[in-house]
Amino acid sequence: MSTARTVLETEEHQALRAAVAALGKRYGRDYMTTVIREGKHTDELWAEAAKLGYLGVNLPEEYGGGGGGMAELSIVLEELGAAGSPLLMMIVSPAICGTVIARFGTEEQKRQWLPGLADGSLTMAFGITEPDAGSNSHRITTTARRDGDDWVLNGRKVFVSGVDIADATLIVGRTEDARSGKLKPCLFIVPRDAPGFGRNQIDMELHAPEKQFELVLDDVRLPSDALVGDEDAGLLQLFAGLNPERIMTAAFGIGMGRFALAKAVEYARTRQVWKAPIGSHQAIAHPLATAHIDLELSRLMMQKAARLYDEGDDIGAGEAANMAKYAAGEACVKAVDQAVHTLGGNGLTREYGLASLITASRVARIAPVSREMILNYVSHQSLGLPKSY
Ligand SMILES: Cc1cc2nc3c(=O)[nH]c(=O)nc-3n(C[C@H](O)[C@H](O)[C@H](O)COP(=O)(O)OP(=O)(O)OC[C@H]3O[C@@H](n4cnc5c(N)ncnc54)[C@H](O)[C@@H]3O)c2cc1C
Repeated sequence: MSTARTVLETEEHQALRAAVAALGKRYGRDYMTTVIREGKHTDELWAEAAKLGYLGVNLPEEYGGGGGGMAELSIVLEELGAAGSPLLMMIVSPAICGTVIARFGTEEQKRQWLPGLADGSLTMAFGITEPDAGSNSHRITTTARRDGDDWVLNGRKVFVSGVDIADATLIVGRTEDARSGKLKPCLFIVPRDAPGFGRNQIDMELHAPEKQFELVLDDVRLPSDALVGDEDAGLLQLFAGLNPERIMTAAFGIGMGRFALAKAVEYARTRQVWKAPIGSHQAIAHPLATAHIDLELSRLMMQKAARLYDEGDDIGAGEAANMAKYAAGEACVKAVDQAVHTLGGNGLTREYGLASLITASRVARIAPVSREMILNYVSHQSLGLPKSY
C-alpha cells in the first residue's frame, strides 16, 4: 500500500480497495478478453460487484445503496480497472444517473430506480453528445415539447455507451422555448423500448464489451414524470451528474494505466537480452517510474475532487474533477504507450493484450470532455484568461 493511500484513505477505504482488488483478480483481463471475443457483456462481474454492494456504494442507504460517495465509487472502478476488468457503465449508471436521481429525482423516481441501480438489476445510460454540437453542449438541439401532460422528444445523439444493455437512457434535451441561446437543459428518462427511440451501433475500433450508439429520437412520447428534477434548474442538475462522470473517468484512466504499468514492470524485471534484465536500463526504467508518478499524482487530484464533491462543494469539485480527468487521461495514455514499448514486439501481440489498450486509453483523453476543453476551462475559469471561441 503506497503512502498516499494510507495517508488519505480511511481504514474502510483501504479495506474496500483490497476487497475490490480481490474481486478484480478473480475476473481479471482473461475474463474481459473472453467476454469481448464472444460478443457478450460483463454480466457476471456486474452482478457480483452489485451483490457485494460495490456498484451502489455511492447511493443513499434508504434506497438500497451504501451511503458513501464518489470517494468510494472511484475506488471500486479504479481497482477493477487495475485488475484489467473495468466496468465502463459504472461511470454512467450509478455515478451520473444514480447521483442525478438521488439528488433531484422525485420520491417516485428514487423508489423506481435507485434500488435497482444499487443491486445491479437496473442499468442506465446517459446521452448528451450530439453530432452537430460535439464538445459545445450549448448547441444541443434535442428538444422536448409539452403536449398536454406528456413530453415529446425529438433529436439525435451520438457515441452513447451501453444503450443496448441499459433499461433506460437519461437524455439531455432542452425545452423548446429556450430561445435565448443559453443552455437550459432538461433531463429525461427514456426507456429502452420507447416507441420512436431508435439506435444504431457505431462501428468503433475499440476492444471493449460496452458499445457506442447513435440515437434517433423521433416523436418519443413520455409521461410528465419522465422529467428528472426541475425544468428551470437543469444546468445545476446536469453539473451534479457531470462532476461524478469526470471523477469516474479519472478512476477509469488510473485503473487502466496501473494495469498496463504492472504488466510492463513484470516484463522488464524478467526479460533479459544483455547481461541484466531490461528493467535495469534507465531508458526503460525511468519512463515507467514517470508513469507511476503521474498515475499517483492523478489519484491525489481525483481524491481531492471526490472529497469536495462528497462534501457538497459542487463548484470546487468542478475544477478539481476537470483537473483529475485531465491528469488521469494523460497519465493513462502515457502509461499504456510506455507499457507497449517496454514489451517490444510482444507489446503488439494478442497474447500479451496491451496493444488494444492503445485505443482504449485514448477514450480517457477524449471523453466525456476532451483534453482541450479542460485546458479551456482552466484557462478561463481558473486563470481568468479570455476566450477564443
Ligand atoms: C468510447 C466513447 C464513449 C462515449 N460515451 C458517451 C456516452 O455514454 N454518452 C455521451 O453523451 N457521450 C459519449 N461519448 C462522447 C464524448 O463525450 C465526445 O466524443 C466528446 O465529448 C468529444 O466530442 P466530439 O467527439 O463531438 O468531438 P468534437 O467536439 O468535434 O472535438 C474534436 C476535437 O476538437 C477539439 N476542440 C473542440 N472544440 C475546441 C475548442 N474550443 N478549443 C480547442 N479544441 C477544441 C476537441 O478537443 C477534439 O480534440 C463517448 C465517446 C467515446 C469515444
